[in-house]
Amino acid sequence: MLQAQLIASKDAPLDSFSPQMFCLARDASGLTQKAASQISGVSQGKISKIENGLQSPSEEQLQALASAFHVQVSFFYRSYPGQLDSVPKLYRKRNLGKKRLSTFQAHELMVRQSVEKLLEAVELQPGLPLTLDEHLRPDPEKAAERIRILWGIPPGPIPNLTQYLEAAGILILPMRDMPDGIDAVFLPPVLGFTAVFIVNQSVPGDRLRWTLAHELGHYVLRHYEGRVDEETAENEANSFASELLMPKAQLKSILRNVTLAKAAQLKSRWRVSVAALIRRARDTGAITNGRYTSLMCELSRKGWRKSEPIDIPVEAPSLLEAVIRYHSNELSYSSSSLAKLLHLTPLKFYELFGEVSPYRFVPL
Ligand SMILES: [Zn+2]
Repeated sequence: MLQAQLIASKDAPLDSFSPQMFCLARDASGLTQKAASQISGVSQGKISKIENGLQSPSEEQLQALASAFHVQVSFFYRSYPGQLDSVPKLYRKRNLGKKRLSTFQAHELMVRQSVEKLLEAVELQPGLPLTLDEHLRPDPEKAAERIRILWGIPPGPIPNLTQYLEAAGILILPMRDMPDGIDAVFLPPVLGFTAVFIVNQSVPGDRLRWTLAHELGHYVLRHYEGRVDEETAENEANSFASELLMPKAQLKSILRNVTLAKAAQLKSRWRVSVAALIRRARDTGAITNGRYTSLMCELSRKGWRKSEPIDIPVEAPSLLEAVIRYHSNELSYSSSSLAKLLHLTPLKFYELFGEVSPYRFVPL
C-alpha cells in the first residue's frame, strides 16, 4: 500500500485587505512597480502607497491590479502566511537575480497557501511514518537505515523513491522555470501542514532521486527546527541521501576498485549518478582518495560532469494530482472554479500546478 488515503473534510473563511498579500502577488507576477503600473493603469505612486499600507486601492484599481498579477481580488484579503525562513538559504548565495529570487519565493508561499486550501477538503492519511526516535537524529546514516526498516524497503536499490515519499504523505510538485541551480525546495511541515517538495522539472532522473532523498533527510532530521547550522544541515542531508540510496553494508564490497565502466553499470541498477557512486566508494573506504581523484578527472575528461551516459527515467509523482483530481471529480470543480478557490487566475494556477493538474486546459 503505497498511496496515502484521501478522505473528505470542510472549508474556511477570509480576512481584511493585506498590503503584504498585495506585495506577494506582485512579487509572484515578476512585475516591478513600474511595469505593474503600466499594465494596470494605476499610478506607480499609488501602488507604492498601497504596498506600504498608506493608502487603500479603489475597487476598480483592485480589479486592474489583480488581473495584472493573475490573482483574484480575494487573494489580497487572505492572511499573510509569513516568510518561509526554514528553507535552506544556500540558494541565496548563488548568483540569482534578486527579482528572480523574490518571484520564486513568492511562488513558494503561493504553493503553500494553495496546498493548505486544497487540504481543507482532502485529508491525507499517510501509510508510512516520518518520525524518528530523538537519539537517531544526530546520526544521518543511522536515520536513513531506520527509515529503510520503518518503510519496509527491501535490501538493494529503491526502485521508486517517489512512491515511498507519497505514501508517507509528502506532496511532490514538479515545477518548470525554477531558477538555475535550484533542484528542489522543501516547504516544512509546520503547524500540521503536510510537507511539500517543489522539485525542478528539468533535472535528470538520477539527480531528481538524489534531491528527493536529500530533502527527505532535511525533513526526518528536522533541520527546519534550526538544530544545526546550514552547512551542517547540508552535509547531514547528503549523508542521509547516500545511505538511503546506496546503503554502505550492501555496496561497499561491490564498489571496491570500481572503474567508470563498472560505475555506469551500477548506475542503471541503483538509479544514482556515476559521480554519486564514486563519491560513495570513497566515503565508504572502498577506494582511496587518490583513486577517487583520478576517477573524477576521467569523468570530467569524458564530459560526464555536464551530462552522464545512461538516462534514468524521471519518477512521476501522483499524490498532489490525486488531491486536485478529487476536487474535479468528487467536488465538481471546473478548472476556473478551482483556480478561484485558490484565489488565483487559471493562468497562475496552471503556472504553479500545471505539471500535476488533471485539467488538460491550455490557458490563453
Ligand atoms: Zn539541502
